[in-house]
Amino acid sequence: MKKEYAKMDAGSLHLANKKVVLKLINHNTQISRSALAKESGLTPPSITRIVDELINVDGLVESLGVGSSSGGRPPMIVKFKNDNNYIIGIDLGATYIRGCMVDLNANFISEIQVPTELKKGFSSIVEKMIKMIHKLQSRKEATAKIWGVGIGVAGLVNSKTGIIESSPDFGWTNIDLRKELESHLDLPFFYDNSTRLMALGEMKMGERDNQKNFAVINIGYGIASGLVVEGNLLKGFSGFAGEFGHISVDTDSAVQCKCGMYGCLEALASGHRIASLGQQVLAENKSEMLKELCNGNKDLITAELVARAAKKGDPASMKIYDDVAEYLCKGIGTIANLLNPETVYIGGGISLNGDLLFDLIEKKKDKYLLPGNARVDIRPSTFGDQATSIGAVSVVLQKILNLELSGVNHNN
Ligand SMILES: [Zn+2]
Repeated sequence: MKKEYAKMDAGSLHLANKKVVLKLINHNTQISRSALAKESGLTPPSITRIVDELINVDGLVESLGVGSSSGGRPPMIVKFKNDNNYIIGIDLGATYIRGCMVDLNANFISEIQVPTELKKGFSSIVEKMIKMIHKLQSRKEATAKIWGVGIGVAGLVNSKTGIIESSPDFGWTNIDLRKELESHLDLPFFYDNSTRLMALGEMKMGERDNQKNFAVINIGYGIASGLVVEGNLLKGFSGFAGEFGHISVDTDSAVQCKCGMYGCLEALASGHRIASLGQQVLAENKSEMLKELCNGNKDLITAELVARAAKKGDPASMKIYDDVAEYLCKGIGTIANLLNPETVYIGGGISLNGDLLFDLIEKKKDKYLLPGNARVDIRPSTFGDQATSIGAVSVVLQKILNLELSGVNHNN
């Protein structure tokens, strides 16, 4: 390590030290200058210089003054400056667009959710996003900084160019969302696949911050996964890693997936599939309860409604969830046997329907797991329906911690 440092010029060395200090402040919420020196291995004068710069030049850190001492010099405590520094995270989903503004410790300041209304087309979606960002910005103090906007979208997203290369949920190919948004808003934007962001959020802000191997499965309109292997978010050769919805779980299936193949997990176990099976049950007049819950209107049948009927003991709805859980366990078995994760988180709309699905998975999973992988913990994602927007916030926070952003001060 010391040899590497020796090769650096003074400027690079200072930047590297500053990143170390910033990460320590972020990790500890509050920390004394002497503890920073101890944990970083830097000298007290270096710490003073770096912390002063973070306070006075970057505006990222503030001094809490003198802490209590049990003897010796009283500690000088510092922390992230939350009052004037914000990040916006947006989850662009096929059903809802969710936006949130958080401070640097990811405390929620404000949240907005609007229906996506896919059918109205691309320009209507862009308009909704612009309005949402304006609204979120208006809830901060006039002098505050927005450091950046993270955006998660379902599909193949080029995180460098911001181009959505392919999104079957939206029916988009090679869409330049960044260009559209940047022509209206003077803010730094960062894009990635929504499920990969869920995994990033879990990695950076989740309840278990030391685990290095886990998977996040996103079950909503479609199915996808974000995979963390040995502490790294898996992207793959062309950025397409984690297309968990398109592994085959029934080679004899006559159900065709959006991708064109038959028997994909997404075609057989997504929220979309659960709703369409519920509609089939209604059409065949096989459930009085489902009929009652939707007032006989098939358009009101959603995966959530089928879950409600199943929880009330409706056999036809229970059968739908039972079959879906079986397919999901086949899929989870594949991931677990391949990657040996510590935890498999399930997020997305389907995970919000309570214990029903998790109880079924718990009952069935062992059939598909090798004994060595049987200990895998399958649980709901830490952040529920905010998982993608929290992940989007994490992308911006990472950029701040790497000192790649300078912060934008906008007064609308
Ligand atoms: Zn498919």
